[in-house]
Amino acid sequence: MTEAVESRHFIQQLIDSDIESGQWGAPGDRSVVTTRFPPEPNGYLHLGHTKAIILNCGLAREYGGKFYLRFDDTNPAKEEQEFVDSIKSDIEWLGAEWDGDVKFASDYFEHMYAWAIELIEKGLAYVDDQSVEEIRAGRGNLKDGGKASPFRDRSVEENKDLFARMKAGEFENGSKVLRAKIDMNSPNMNLRDPLIYRIVNVTHHRTGDTWHIYPMYDWAHGLEDSIEGVTHSLCTLEFEDHRPLYDWFIDAINQGRSDEEQIHHPQQTEFSRLALSYTNMSKRYMRQLVDENHVHGWDDPRMITVAGFRRRGYTPESFWMLASDVGITKFNAIVDFSRLENMVREDLNKRAPRAMAVLDPIKLVITNWGDGGDEDRLESMEVPNHPQDESFGSRTVQFGKELWIERGDFMIDPPKKFFRLGIGREVRLRSGYWVKCHDFKADADGNVTEVHCTYDPSTRGGNNPPADEEGKVRKVKGTIHWLNVNDAIDVEVRMFDRLYMAERPGKKSGDHLDDLNPDSLTVISNAKFESGLVDRGPQEPAWGDGIRRFQFERTGYFCEDGDSSAQKLVFNRTASLRDSWAKQGR
Ligand code: ATP
Ligand code: MG
Repeated sequence: MTEAVESRHFIQQLIDSDIESGQWGAPGDRSVVTTRFPPEPNGYLHLGHTKAIILNCGLAREYGGKFYLRFDDTNPAKEEQEFVDSIKSDIEWLGAEWDGDVKFASDYFEHMYAWAIELIEKGLAYVDDQSVEEIRAGRGNLKDGGKASPFRDRSVEENKDLFARMKAGEFENGSKVLRAKIDMNSPNMNLRDPLIYRIVNVTHHRTGDTWHIYPMYDWAHGLEDSIEGVTHSLCTLEFEDHRPLYDWFIDAINQGRSDEEQIHHPQQTEFSRLALSYTNMSKRYMRQLVDENHVHGWDDPRMITVAGFRRRGYTPESFWMLASDVGITKFNAIVDFSRLENMVREDLNKRAPRAMAVLDPIKLVITNWGDGGDEDRLESMEVPNHPQDESFGSRTVQFGKELWIERGDFMIDPPKKFFRLGIGREVRLRSGYWVKCHDFKADADGNVTEVHCTYDPSTRGGNNPPADEEGKVRKVKGTIHWLNVNDAIDVEVRMFDRLYMAERPGKKSGDHLDDLNPDSLTVISNAKFESGLVDRGPQEPAWGDGIRRFQFERTGYFCEDGDSSAQKLVFNRTASLRDSWAKQGR
């Protein structure tokens, strides 16, 4: 019990004490907790966003409160419907269903506009004709104070008139702004008369050409939370310095209003961003990768977008596992990419049925198969679908004279510790027989084309042979996978590696593109796969997202790609079985 209490993170502790004190409703009422995820629809969601989504959704669920999805669509120049759609489907896939209808900041434009007029009337906002550069220069720096705009003392009437005409589209982009009148000498630069509206003569993806002015993020954000009754407005650390401004805006609106007319004042709390080694967790870089064709779209499996991870075969569960593993703190730290990979391995190890696939095939010929009789004879072998979990059942595969094995499982001149095939060496073919190599064939370039072996009929199922006369049992160290040549089909396998080679892409040269891994994608067009698994088998789990996932014995976790068809199956490698980056020390 104490342990559970101690492991609660600081935001849970804060909410617990709010509930006890009745900060948001009747003391003890947990259902008042209201959170939201407020993406800007200007790109696809990335891994970092999943941390915010899972935190907000998880808290609302834990307390029995509400979790909203709200699009912060206040910047018409960069936003598109495509991004709204992708964000919604990514959140659904993650299993973080929101309460009620999807919300849009643009639905509150009238509200925000009315409040801006209220500020003007209270002498707390003014129209400034200075250019953006002049305004920036006038802000000054932390050492010297700022300089008041020559337009700062415009009359309320003039401000109201100009603001209405800004809205009506009478002025050009950048010619005027509305600013809050706060303090040009504040030690917090955000309070030096921040912009609250700017002129943007661009069609908005939802409101069309209704508006010619758009609210600045800082003005809009806290007001959106207020309108929705968000109690705990959770955001990343870089917004800590903006909190006094959000508080100021709400206080300014409430100033002079009666108790009943007060608008809701959410409480903002900041937590650290998720950053991952070997990645750039920012839409800006991701957009460049897509626009300049360094990857094949936002859902390229090498991207750290949710859509990319999904296509790569990651499970929603692995993101929830990572989020809880990383926890919620106030310290910015870079999480190692391997940690995420280990989560998906852990999840898939439990849930993915096994299959046999040979990625780089060479033929193994059993020269004593059918000795003195039928060379085409086939034997049915029972293969477990999951070695640690009997509930997955088993399947039958055929074993015959000619098999596919991995090229890497044979060596012409193997070192002593190579426990697979070489002349005179014996291995176990998993769930098959033991085979011993006595010869091989190679082409003119020295590439091995066939490995010749004999099998031991007393090892059926891959089991140990009986003891000899002296009571000794023969042993083999290596077990390899295989496919019967006539029961294997050609499939395409896409092998992904990290997109960047550097832990902090772009750190050295200043350009992340310099650190791109040229070998991040390798396509194998003639890998071999069990023909019996082309269609979904009765024992295969029903993955919530419909994507089939397997562990290919000994080679990794794979999922079927959307490009896959009955004519040509396509698989993506989700993860290797082990962390090869750690081993190589790259
Ligand atoms: P980017 O920096 O990638 O452009 P953003 O913060 O501009 O992302 P938004 O759409 O504005 O993207 O973000 C929506 C929410 O996601 C915000 O509340 C933000 O704090 C949160 N968020 C964004 N990146 C991360 C991250 N790396 N870790 C945790 N939360 C994040
Ligand atoms: Mg943003």
